[in-house]
Amino acid sequence: MNVVTRIPSCIEQREPPVFACDAMLGGLARWLRAAGYDTSWKADVGDWELVRLSLREGRILLSSDTGIFRIGIVRDGEVPALFIPHGLTKQEQLVFVLGRLDLPLREPRCMACGGPLAEVPKEHVRERVPPRTLAWLQQFYECRRCRHIFWQGTHWRRIANQLENARAVPPEGDS
Ligand SMILES: [Zn+2]
Repeated sequence: MNVVTRIPSCIEQREPPVFACDAMLGGLARWLRAAGYDTSWKADVGDWELVRLSLREGRILLSSDTGIFRIGIVRDGEVPALFIPHGLTKQEQLVFVLGRLDLPLREPRCMACGGPLAEVPKEHVRERVPPRTLAWLQQFYECRRCRHIFWQGTHWRRIANQLENARAVPPEGDS
């Protein structure tokens, strides 16, 4: 069963939940956006800035820094936060977060800026996508905010598979 302390009250606040990643978790931030979750990330964000942002915007704070969990309002659960274990790949971090909070994969958002994506016809991306990708994929998306082009390649399928596997095996209690 998914045993998660503190987090559910926040999920009720914002649906779907939104996240704030610490400076070390830029890769996770990109993958959370790809999984459809609005996620903020800044390379030079300080602990307090991150805590205040989470509080102000109702974001779940994600961090691998044990120090931040000693800050009173984080420790006391006023700011919902999830500790990301060390030594995981970006994909494993994503599976960890979605698994712990029992969240589905949603419509992908832009990995670069978190903006919403719109499907665009293949002809429109011909000049902007590697020829091999163009040859074997049919669906392409453009960020409405920053105009990046995306497609669901092999990385994406690996994540989806990992996530399904993670869901098939219930986590063993709270660790
Ligand atoms: Zn974008």
